[in-house]
Amino acid sequence: MVEINIPSDLLPLDGRFGCGPSKVRPAQLAAFSAAGAQLLGTSHRQAPVKHLVKRVQVGLMDLFHNPSGYEVVMGNGGSTAFWDVAAFSLAEAKSQLLVHGEFGAKFATALSAPWLEKPTVIQGEPGSRSELKAEAGISAYAYPQNETSTGVVAPVKRLAGVDDGALFFTDATSAAGGIDFDPKETDVYYFAPQKNFASDGGLWFALMSPKAIERVERIASSERYIPEFLSLKTAIDNSRLNQTLNTPAIATLFLLAEQVDWMNENGGLKWADGRTKAASSHLYDWAESSAFATPFVSNVEHRSQVVSTIDFIDSVDAAEVAKILRANGIVDTEPYRKLGRNQLRVATFTATELSDVQQLTKCIDYVVERLG
Ligand SMILES: *Cc1c(COP(=O)(O)O)cnc(C)c1O
Repeated sequence: MVEINIPSDLLPLDGRFGCGPSKVRPAQLAAFSAAGAQLLGTSHRQAPVKHLVKRVQVGLMDLFHNPSGYEVVMGNGGSTAFWDVAAFSLAEAKSQLLVHGEFGAKFATALSAPWLEKPTVIQGEPGSRSELKAEAGISAYAYPQNETSTGVVAPVKRLAGVDDGALFFTDATSAAGGIDFDPKETDVYYFAPQKNFASDGGLWFALMSPKAIERVERIASSERYIPEFLSLKTAIDNSRLNQTLNTPAIATLFLLAEQVDWMNENGGLKWADGRTKAASSHLYDWAESSAFATPFVSNVEHRSQVVSTIDFIDSVDAAEVAKILRANGIVDTEPYRKLGRNQLRVATFTATELSDVQQLTKCIDYVVERLG
């Protein structure tokens, strides 16, 4: 590796640009070392931790515009666990899924479980998006709101002409808290806290509509075998009591609560949306005017405001640039492994400052210039 020392006046104040885990704000950590630390090592069945869980649930409902009848449900295991929760507790018969990257594909695999019918998979090219289509006999439509592996965004929108009772499942893991949306346009909006919510991993959350909760109740009382850890009915019952089936990470909950409150105090999801748009626009504009970089997602409508993927021309080795950035304290700009492109991937989650993204592009220019 070529050694390049980036001058300190070009460096961002915070060099974390990963897609999860991602930047945690110093104010969250300061709050944690004061109020949060007192909760560590105390029972999750007692009032102080239950209050913390409730603070998170109420805060998330506020952030998501308080759709009436919807509930914030949670459990352990992150979004990956939720894929299996959905297969056991939410999916029935046949689903339709949008797949244009790794995360969509993983959800499609989960909803291909042996007790379900083979789903319709609408395959798109990585770096662009195809669209869900109303289809007879489909009981659920599922898609990633933000395909984190490629930086492609999808609208949260129901389709006209679907069967009665069909539900919409949105994998919002890397979008929630960074993109404004209308919660009435979906039934299950699930995510994990280590992306826009600037916390740690290990939990999943789902904003669920009354119709989705009804479906869960019906499946839970059917003959289907459901492991308790993957029972959404059990998770709903516990969430209503501000607790989880098994022990949650208290630090994760605390950092999440701080981030949700910070968002709500500053203007909610609309404000967060404005921040991620401004930061990602800077990156896309920079790439478009650069001689060596271009946005990977060519359709402007498909470009994500929370994860930007930037292709480099062949003569500039993006992997080497990422390594040099890393050596200078700017971390996790490497692309999604399996995509295998000569590119950088940069998260512009809500916690990320526009000024740091501006410094980042200066640093990339500095490094590429010196690589010759
Ligand atoms: C990160 C991510 C996941 C996986 O989340 P885990 O909490 O690590 O299981 C799933 N879907 C999307 C869209 C993601 O970005």
